[in-house]
Amino acid sequence: SEVATMMDVPTTKVISTCMSLGIMVTMNQRLDAETLSIVADEFGYEVDFVTSDLEESIEDIVDNPEDLVVRAPIVTVMGHVDHGKTSLLDYIREENVIAGESGGITQHIGAYGVQLENGQKIAFLDTPGHEAFTAMRARGAQVTDLAIIVIAADDDVMPQTKEAISHAQAAGVPIIFAINKVDKPTANPDKIKEKLAAMNLLVEDWGGKIQSHDISAKTGLGVKELLEKVLLEAEILELKANPKRSASGTVVEAFLDKGRGYVSTILVQTGTLRIGDYVLAGKNSGKIKAMQDERGNNVKEAGPSTPISILGLDGAPQAGDKFNVLEDEREAKDIAAKRAQLHREQSVRTQRHITLDEIGRRIALGDFKELNIILKGDVDGSVEALTDSFQKLSTEEIHINIIHKAVGAITESDVLLASASDAIIVGFNVRPAGNARAVADKEEIDIRTYSIIYDAINDLKDAMEGMLSPVM
Ligand code: GDP
Repeated sequence: SEVATMMDVPTTKVISTCMSLGIMVTMNQRLDAETLSIVADEFGYEVDFVTSDLEESIEDIVDNPEDLVVRAPIVTVMGHVDHGKTSLLDYIREENVIAGESGGITQHIGAYGVQLENGQKIAFLDTPGHEAFTAMRARGAQVTDLAIIVIAADDDVMPQTKEAISHAQAAGVPIIFAINKVDKPTANPDKIKEKLAAMNLLVEDWGGKIQSHDISAKTGLGVKELLEKVLLEAEILELKANPKRSASGTVVEAFLDKGRGYVSTILVQTGTLRIGDYVLAGKNSGKIKAMQDERGNNVKEAGPSTPISILGLDGAPQAGDKFNVLEDEREAKDIAAKRAQLHREQSVRTQRHITLDEIGRRIALGDFKELNIILKGDVDGSVEALTDSFQKLSTEEIHINIIHKAVGAITESDVLLASASDAIIVGFNVRPAGNARAVADKEEIDIRTYSIIYDAINDLKDAMEGMLSPVM
């Protein structure tokens, strides 16, 4: 109703416009930014987004280029189950203690930093797997700079390996392969590289650009060299941050500790965080009372790419929440309260993901250029056939992107990827498994299942032309 008043049109018209976009709203409901733009456009208005007075104080500071310094890369380890993700993270954690540092990494705080002999640093997210990675991304947090994908050389490029690759690619995060377990007599790293090449992923040994290294997470063979390659890749990304500004970053995990209160692990992405700073993290706030690194040391400040656990927040923010440092406590509290209120009002989600029914309209409105699809099928043949046919439907107006395709049921991880990348899921002779349907309903992800290839192609074609008859 606020929007209607601003545009001087009846509220019912705004509601019916929303409905024509497939969004059921009530008078008092808030619209997300994208819907607002589309609705305003329908009535000939353009939306200019300004931050509210309160949120303005956390508006992005424009860094002076002279203040920017190189920061350490933040790395996530992914791969198929049992291929050695945890072993690799453990090995790195145990072996790479900073020279002269008392004691190793003693605390599991969700992330840790290591320093190589040459003084260069790398920060690792200690929750391995692409599910955690994509769940953070679905919450709008882009933390990872590089992904190490672990593949066991005595096994194969497995379904979850392919998933991890798709998830990293969909996020635009460069990949480095760690071909693991080369200490085993049955290991065959070349076979793995050949399989990757067949998937159009050419590693350096094969004349390609993707870095890979043969390692053993058990004996430590090659791990140092792998980390050197990580740093090399990071150099290309020219990762920089300004340590002089007030800190901001992302929450990695948070919990209530009986003795200490709320403990949150955060990753400082830019600026420097100090004891006494007033922090706003998601819907929580507070003054930092103490900070500890992964070695259990009390520290007074933490610069860019540093994981740190903090004490002093008035609650446990969610993994993936952004945190910012504000001028004063009152301000931090007010914004946190306002956010909590907005969250309650919006408990009926209006943030919608794309559906097949909506595509035609969105294309017609001209604000929709790329359709992301996740494709799952019962056999390779059908997946490939559908990939080909779908891609051929790309037009000048809209590009069809198959961000992940695989044989197998539709999983929760597929739904998370769809949510993080705003994709629809197409299943051919497969159904959602386990929790996938429930999560899809919650995240409002469109899942379409077919048993006739022709139907799938026709539906997409019709949808793109805005001719799809809605499913009941
Ligand atoms: P994750 O599921 O990917 O985290 O895999 P884990 O790190 O738990 O490893 C699965 C199993 O493989 C464990 O029994 C490890 O001891 C073993 N493993 C991991 N890396 C190596 C390796 O480099 N060589 C050998 N021989 N075994 C390994």
